[in-house]
Amino acid sequence: MTNILISGASIAGTTAAYWLRRHGFTPTVVERAPAIREGGYKVDIRGAAIDVIERMGLLEAVRARSTEMRHVTHYDATGRRVATMDADLFGGRHGGDAEIMRGDLNELLYDLTRDDVEYIFDDTITGIAEDGTVTFERSAPRRFDLVIGADGVHSVTRRLVFGEEERFRRDLGCHISISTVPNHLGLDREEAVHVAPGRTANVYSTRQDPTAKALFMWSSAPLAYDHRDTARQKELLAEAMAGAGWEVPELLEAVRRSDDFYFDSVSQIHMDRWSSGRVVLVGDAGYCASPASGQGTSLALVGAYVLAGELARGAEGALDRYEAVLRPFVEANQELGPANLKGMVIGSRLAIRIQLMMIRLLPHLPGRDRMIERVAGAIHRAANAIALADYTTVQG
Ligand SMILES: Cc1cc2nc3c(=O)[nH]c(=O)nc-3n(C[C@H](O)[C@H](O)[C@H](O)COP(=O)(O)OP(=O)(O)OC[C@H]3O[C@@H](n4cnc5c(N)ncnc54)[C@H](O)[C@@H]3O)c2cc1C
Repeated sequence: MTNILISGASIAGTTAAYWLRRHGFTPTVVERAPAIREGGYKVDIRGAAIDVIERMGLLEAVRARSTEMRHVTHYDATGRRVATMDADLFGGRHGGDAEIMRGDLNELLYDLTRDDVEYIFDDTITGIAEDGTVTFERSAPRRFDLVIGADGVHSVTRRLVFGEEERFRRDLGCHISISTVPNHLGLDREEAVHVAPGRTANVYSTRQDPTAKALFMWSSAPLAYDHRDTARQKELLAEAMAGAGWEVPELLEAVRRSDDFYFDSVSQIHMDRWSSGRVVLVGDAGYCASPASGQGTSLALVGAYVLAGELARGAEGALDRYEAVLRPFVEANQELGPANLKGMVIGSRLAIRIQLMMIRLLPHLPGRDRMIERVAGAIHRAANAIALADYTTVQG
């Protein structure tokens, strides 16, 4: 097994390409976008994923591009400041964990591989035959020994080989939207939040970013809309946030004008198996934990490292070993999604008042450290729920 096609050039795809190349394989990456996707939102790299980054020699570069967020301030509907919290505590980060913009991480991973991995942009897989022949929308058909689907939560590879997304998607009862907006509040490495029953509005600006990101999450049943119809999605967001106070009307107006609008349901992907024949899934494509878990990036990094490492240890049984090594880690991290969401989108005014009171009192409580450990402990345990094998010197 030498020639491996990877569909998707984001976190999982570029990481898999790096490790496969390092183990002596010849990976090719096909990406639907015309270039590596820049920008995006802030993501966390925690626990075992930090070890993967270190083994790739990227730890210093990741730290140099850290978001350097300082604190998160809560505001009520009238714009009154009601509570402030340390950003690392808010993000459940522990010790060496890092926070970085997704686009920055993607760029670092791409730069590490671009000279010795073939990247095909602006194309997509249209079919995968049992003998490994892959057809593309634009490129000529080619045969590969293995196809890795790293094409995200709405994976085309998964649909072609395993079936429609609905079979595997578990909606968590919420929608999310994020856009780049002017930094009209003058935020400096800080985040501002307004929590109302069933809907949360959030705006932040990270280190050296002259703009801000507006992020909205709200409870909702599954919504029917065309995935390409951004104007309709912006209307759905405006309907969900109608009547909200604080800075929400200004933010919605800025979102209406933004050109990098992201909109999706908050959902997870659950599958009994991540491989079939010559095809295997990695990252969100196989086991999306949802943005609410805060662990999607780490799962993509660790998943790609383990998959490439097991392939290098020997093709025979490699996909079974990948599954066996990774599944408990994936399950532990997927559990965080619904649990965290309860603290992000809150149903009642009383529960919001209690949450804000806890944030205000926390620094003064006698059992402060134990309580903080309870908040950050679950994510820390899940982020470290795997003993990473050292594949660094294995040759395939
Ligand atoms: C709003 C939001 C906030 C988030 N916050 C966090 C956070 O705080 N912490 C965290 O760890 N994670 C967070 N995540 C999750 C994280 O971004 C993902 O889990 C992570 O990027 C998964 O990486 P991936 O490579 O598997 O998939 P993706 O990053 O989704 O990449 C998929 C790639 O495949 C490409 N692609 C799609 N279809 C095709 C096709 N047909 N052919 C070729 N290429 C294709 C896409 O263009 C993309 O480049 C967040 C996600 C969102 C949406």
